Amino acid sequence: MIYILTGGPATGKGTRSDILANALEIPHISTGDMLRNVAKKNLEIREKLSNGELISDEIITDLLEQRILEDDCKEGFVLDGYPRTLKQAELLDVLLAKYGRAVTKVMELTIPDELAFKRILGRSKCTHCGASYGIDFPPKRKGRCDICGGHLAVRTDDTAETLSKRIETYRENSKPILDYYRDKGILMTVDASAHPERVVEEAQMEI
Ligand code: ADP
Repeated sequence: MIYILTGGPATGKGTRSDILANALEIPHISTGDMLRNVAKKNLEIREKLSNGELISDEIITDLLEQRILEDDCKEGFVLDGYPRTLKQAELLDVLLAKYGRAVTKVMELTIPDELAFKRILGRSKCTHCGASYGIDFPPKRKGRCDICGGHLAVRTDDTAETLSKRIETYRENSKPILDYYRDKGILMTVDASAHPERVVEEAQMEI
């Protein structure tokens, strides 16, 4: 059971990946989280991340290989944040084939652009304890954290302008990757506007 969840900004990849991974009792591997962890000990990766650069296809695939060889990945895993390039999709297939494994299904999460705007522009985070809020879980008092009473701040890149650009970039970059999986017959497109728990049924549906 190897699932890949992919989708543009604010499609809720993280939430759906967590739900699916918990239901199937397999790990959720987020390459972003994995890299932030490695960055604590590795200066080169730390610098790349803070400059907003992508990590090279070879390095990220090597790190992924080490991760999926760990014991908890024996029954499978849910991948989120990888592949980000066509090269990574190809490298992943080579890597999995080496261990007699293959991707089970790729789930592309889609939402209307208006909803992406609503979700992202309604997102805030506590500057004190880091708790997150959004349109589906607003704070009880405007601008204040429910947990610690701290000030809520909006991410500086969460503006309408950068969001349009991020959506456009996602569409351009993801097209060849989605075509690659569509040709293999393992791509499923999912409406991610609501009901994140449906990911468990969707994962088991025929394409
Ligand atoms: P975001 O959703 O904000 O793009 P992620 O947590 O998925 O953030 O990733 C954070 C950073 O980690 C990315 O900006 C990129 O530098 C790096 N990264 C994550 N996944 C990959 C990947 N598959 N290939 C290359 N770089 C990656």
